[in-house]
Amino acid sequence: MAIERTLVLIKPDGMQRHLAGLSIDRLENTHMDLVGAKIVTVTDKLAREHYALLEGVGPFKDRKLFEHLINFIKGEYHGDPRRRVLALVYKGEDAVKAIRAAVGVTNPEDASPETIRGAFGRICRKHGYYENVVHASGNLEEAEREIGLWFKPGEILE
Ligand code: GDP
Repeated sequence: MAIERTLVLIKPDGMQRHLAGLSIDRLENTHMDLVGAKIVTVTDKLAREHYALLEGVGPFKDRKLFEHLINFIKGEYHGDPRRRVLALVYKGEDAVKAIRAAVGVTNPEDASPETIRGAFGRICRKHGYYENVVHASGNLEEAEREIGLWFKPGEILE
């Protein structure tokens, strides 16, 4: 097993609902080490870079759904002009898998109740979109790419 780093974002729905603390509690229970943290205002450029690999793929072949994903991470549905996301870097043995297990699967209705998304996520009845509270990198390659987008090297501890 290898020492890995992975990116977590507390998304605008999680920030609006004050779920950052409860989410971090679950993340800390993985015993991975928190080595980077900051509040970020999500620009259109950052949003598109972050989700670049999903454009035109799977459900995001639907252009409208992809644009919705971009708007969501930019905080456009959560009434905060500061567009806040809390970006975190966790580090440890098999960190990508350990953090994903704590986060749970994409659809909050399918996520197991002991996961962050299962416990706190919901589907917005009005718009049908997933409010799944957090993002976590899907694999090691994505993790390093994403960390490079959200953090400068000097902002993360060894
Ligand atoms: P993740 O790795 O579990 O976050 O899932 P993906 O990388 O596949 O998708 C990115 C994000 O797009 C998810 O976290 C959801 O917010 C959203 N998403 C993915 N699939 C769907 C879908 O079928 N419907 C809706 N409404 N949102 C989706």
